[in-house]
Amino acid sequence: MAADEVDLASGTQALLSGSSDVRGLSVTELAEKLFASNPYFSAGFGLMGLGVGLAALRQISRRTASLLYKQLLVDLEIPSKDKSYMWFLDWMAKQNVADAQSANRGGFFGRRHLAVQTQYRQHDNGSVTTSFSLVPGPGTHIIRYKGAFIQVSRERSGRLMDLTSGTPFETVVLKTLYKDRHLFEDILNEAREIAVQKQEGKTVLFTSYGPEWRPFGQPRRRRPIESVVLDETVAESLIADIEEFLDNGKWYYDRGIPYRRGYLLYGPPGSGKSSFIQALAGHLDYNICILNLSEAHLTDDRLNHLMNHIPERSVLLLEDVDAAFSQRAQSTDQGYVSGVTFSGLLNALDGVTSSEERIIFMTTNHPERLDPALVRPGRVDVQKLIDYASPYQIRKMFARFYGDLATEKLADRLVDIATNLGRPLSTAELQGLFITFKSSPHTALEALEATKHNAGI
Ligand code: ADP
Repeated sequence: MAADEVDLASGTQALLSGSSDVRGLSVTELAEKLFASNPYFSAGFGLMGLGVGLAALRQISRRTASLLYKQLLVDLEIPSKDKSYMWFLDWMAKQNVADAQSANRGGFFGRRHLAVQTQYRQHDNGSVTTSFSLVPGPGTHIIRYKGAFIQVSRERSGRLMDLTSGTPFETVVLKTLYKDRHLFEDILNEAREIAVQKQEGKTVLFTSYGPEWRPFGQPRRRRPIESVVLDETVAESLIADIEEFLDNGKWYYDRGIPYRRGYLLYGPPGSGKSSFIQALAGHLDYNICILNLSEAHLTDDRLNHLMNHIPERSVLLLEDVDAAFSQRAQSTDQGYVSGVTFSGLLNALDGVTSSEERIIFMTTNHPERLDPALVRPGRVDVQKLIDYASPYQIRKMFARFYGDLATEKLADRLVDIATNLGRPLSTAELQGLFITFKSSPHTALEALEATKHNAGI
């Protein structure tokens, strides 16, 4: 050992001092000479080599595992922003699901972690219905689909929040064997089918939820267009206009004119404006995006964004469009602007650029408050007064409600009472009267007559 130490010392010394035996050698030759002559160097480098080798092996095995994992498994990510996200959750609620932990414990088909989804809906008559559906909650679940196991991870992003709605962004990640990857497409198609079936023959109402449109409650059964009784030719002329617009897309494109059409329905409350628009949308097989301009959290920016991101095949309904005008007054009188401003509304209307057709309906009870700038062609192309019940509407609604009981004589008397009430009668009021006395048109007439000197029914 001592001799080795001397050797090592002398070798190094020779190196440093440039002794005669090493002079004139290249660095590699020198290193070789040193390793050959010095067992410590060779043992040290041997150990180091072993370490490096093991590390490399570990790295290789890790890479191989990840490569195999990548080769064998395949992921599909569905973010909550995507339309298929809700479809998928609905689909999954119908599957046999287990969370991964219970699967490991053998309790495979027990559902352990569910989340509730509440649908709340207010009907036209004011009643409210709620329904609950249970969907798999955040976490990892395993489903068996067409003989394959699929791992589903529903994850909530802790950091990414939708600041306007205050809800966290979520993703669902599906994972399965590479060989079963075609199942993803099958699942998405099935989920879409279920969603489409649920909506068939129905109208989906979208409302704004922060900067985005979300379905409001369950899709509604389409309202037959004949069930909304407007004055003579009003409904027919509106339907004809909109159908002509929809048939003439090429005409607009060829001339470089934005392919959109604006309608303004104005008149007293309860005259059937909103009901007609909903029935018309159903008739055209369109959905409806409803926006109330007096909504507290609506700003110009949000309005603009919403109007440019309308779901396909949807009619946009701007309710109480005069609300933007009161905002304008507020901004000048009180020195600040809140909500939607008039110029914000005009910008949003003009900025609606879409490759698709765009149908915009506006309603107001106060047409006199509208600025001519809003109702100029291009923004509002067709204006229609939807007024109090006319004799034509009274007769038609009477016949619709009472069928054979609605004799000509009774109808004449009803018109006589209604026109001599000393105040106008809205179609909503008339409907209310007929619903209250649904089995007896006589009593309905008497009840109406009794209100002659009162404010209403
Ligand atoms: P508006 O939008 O003009 O205020 P709505 O469409 O909200 O009126 O009508 C309120 C209620 O009255 C609805 O339940 C609707 O069915 C009924 N109604 C009003 N007008 C008519 C009409 N012309 N034909 C049939 N129903 C009507």
